[in-house]
Amino acid sequence: MLIVAGFAASATSAVHGQGGANFDNVQMKVLPVQGNIYMIAGAGSNVTVQVGKEGVLIVDTEFAPLVPKIAAEIRKLSKGPIRYIINTHVHADHVGGNEAFAKLVPDDPAAPLKIIAHENVLNRMSKPAPNETPPPDAALPRDEYFTPFKDLRFNGEAIFIYYEPKAHTDGDSVVLFRGSDVISAGDVFTPGTYPFIDLERGGSLDGEIAALNHILALAVPAHTQDGGTYVVPGHGRICDEGDVVEYRDMVVIIRDRVRDMIKKSMTLDQIKAAKPTRDYDTEYVSADSFVTADRFVESIYASLTRK
Ligand SMILES: [Zn+2]
Repeated sequence: MLIVAGFAASATSAVHGQGGANFDNVQMKVLPVQGNIYMIAGAGSNVTVQVGKEGVLIVDTEFAPLVPKIAAEIRKLSKGPIRYIINTHVHADHVGGNEAFAKLVPDDPAAPLKIIAHENVLNRMSKPAPNETPPPDAALPRDEYFTPFKDLRFNGEAIFIYYEPKAHTDGDSVVLFRGSDVISAGDVFTPGTYPFIDLERGGSLDGEIAALNHILALAVPAHTQDGGTYVVPGHGRICDEGDVVEYRDMVVIIRDRVRDMIKKSMTLDQIKAAKPTRDYDTEYVSADSFVTADRFVESIYASLTRK
């Protein structure tokens, strides 16, 4: 979620709290989510894996150096071919492994690998900023979509890929596995940390809240409150609808506080000094947080005051 520098070349600087990042020591954790869906967690984004008779679909690819380890875990779940990669957005910790995964897939015209993302992801990867390393061709999501959503059927399951405009970035997708009843949310939802609104890459606070509300509209709770639809976040633990409600409420409450302060003509410095996040900081800020309380407030302020 947190990675705003270039693609492959910047991967080592991108793992927070690990200094010169030694990917060798990263252990993969594989967790069954529900139905055909698993979550693999390593050092970058969570990787969502759907397996079945037709092969393997993955959502997000972490960093290239971690792909052999991720692939080894996937092979324990399925010996079938990797047929689909869906990238939830452009950040390097979500697309960094695309090329390495593509190399693992035999060039079979009958079973080609498709890399799907919103077209804004392809646009940004194809035209990186001057200080960014352009990704290799094989890493690009050539199966881009530009409609409000894209659907497909794989492993006997209907899969919906929804575009969430101007949220964490301008190219976010949320993936619903309808049969398994699992949502892969990307960095729109990152429990335990404040959302990173990447204003430079087209994100916005209102889009972030709309995306969270959309996840809630897609999710169905169980009678017992826990369970029902499970949500795999961009980073962090497997969650359910109640967790997303709590997160959405936090973002809305802090947004409203900051908005009220702006209405009172307070400056950004005055707003930061008033600590509008104070009662949430213990839950959402830790020593290695990329989005500090001040940074979150700054992004809200910038998003609300932007012309
Ligand atoms: Zn991100």
